[in-house]
Amino acid sequence: MKKFLAAIVALVVLTASVTAVLASSYVGNSTSRKFHYANCAHARKMNQKNRVYFNSRNEAVKAGYVACKKCKP
Ligand SMILES: [Zn+2]
Repeated sequence: MKKFLAAIVALVVLTASVTAVLASSYVGNSTSRKFHYANCAHARKMNQKNRVYFNSRNEAVKAGYVACKKCKP
């Protein structure tokens, strides 16, 4: 039973940390006005000074950014 509880706790902690990473995983390009998942090839190639970070998809859309057609964030 203790092992089962430990597994549940581990799962909750893991889920929380994954959510935290996903929460800040949107990157917009201030020049092209497009936003990507941080792991999209386009986002990685983006010039550092053009990067804008978003915590949610909604935040990016509200700021006037358009979703990348490749990674479809
Ligand atoms: Zn993309």
